Amino acid sequence: MRLRRQPKVEYKDLLLAESPTELEHLLREYLEAHPNDIWAYLKLGNLLREKGEPQKALRLHQTLLAKPKLDRTTKVKVLKAIARDYIELGKTEAAAETYEQIVSMMPERSAYEELLRLYESMGDWDKAIDVKNKLLRLDKKSEDQHLAILYAMKAYSLADEMPAKEREAERYLKMAEKIYPDLPLILYVRGELHMKGGRNELAVDAWKQLLMEHTDYAYLVLDKLEDLLFKEGRFSELELIYEDTLKVARNPHVIAHLIHILLSKGEKSRAMEYLDELISSYGESDGLRSLKYLLHIETNDIETVRDELRVRGSPFIPYKCENCGYESTMSLMQCPNCRSWLSFR
Ligand SMILES: [Zn+2]
Repeated sequence: MRLRRQPKVEYKDLLLAESPTELEHLLREYLEAHPNDIWAYLKLGNLLREKGEPQKALRLHQTLLAKPKLDRTTKVKVLKAIARDYIELGKTEAAAETYEQIVSMMPERSAYEELLRLYESMGDWDKAIDVKNKLLRLDKKSEDQHLAILYAMKAYSLADEMPAKEREAERYLKMAEKIYPDLPLILYVRGELHMKGGRNELAVDAWKQLLMEHTDYAYLVLDKLEDLLFKEGRFSELELIYEDTLKVARNPHVIAHLIHILLSKGEKSRAMEYLDELISSYGESDGLRSLKYLLHIETNDIETVRDELRVRGSPFIPYKCENCGYESTMSLMQCPNCRSWLSFR
């Protein structure tokens, strides 16, 4: 059905728009006759943002704030639109400031959750902890696993300021431990603090413990362990750690790292056995298949095979978010897609 153009666009006409372009056109006409309709302005701004013009959207939404007699609900709606414009523009800090304004006017759960996600993405753990505590209060709870994760991340963020911040980092880690002693992230961070504090052996112990007790989270420490032991030439020790871990659970990432070590030691046939195991349990990805092929034909060129394997950021076995299915070649603590924590396997 074609829209019959009338001299004046009315509200019901807007509902008939068949495309975003038509809706934009109708909204502009409608606004000429109804300059005080905030809803239509909001809609137009959102449309501009969706069209990839967030700067224009932001300008339009900001002019709305200057309108007199905005009730609180409407003002919150406008601020939410502004925050989304900032996020689209990559201005996370401005988005967070806007959400602070929103929660001060209307302390709703969804706004606090958005604010928490923003602070997490900024790595501002103090503010994230603060917002998390407010959310917990809304639930009449005092702590949960997420709060423990934030404390552990705060401790982790202090690792680069070792040894000056050692005690502060330890204090945050203890808080995380008190809430959730079994959190694998705690062992990861403890190892990091030891390493940055120059206590390599204790770091290795913490990461080894993580591999044994939380093998599913192996991805957190495999590269770290390898960085530490590989450069010291401690291949055999690394091999032993991986073999011990595999006695507990056949984790594909651990197997991939073990193959890497075996190739470094020139043990082609053992590497081949593990590769067969990976293929039989994990499926024959293109990467794994081509690696197998290389191993077969390039008998004298283990160097090339090793380069191909590139366990670190290996394309052969990507990390996958258990929550949303997002795949990454890097091991990540928080999923960039769904923002869940420790969800990669
Ligand atoms: Zn995810």
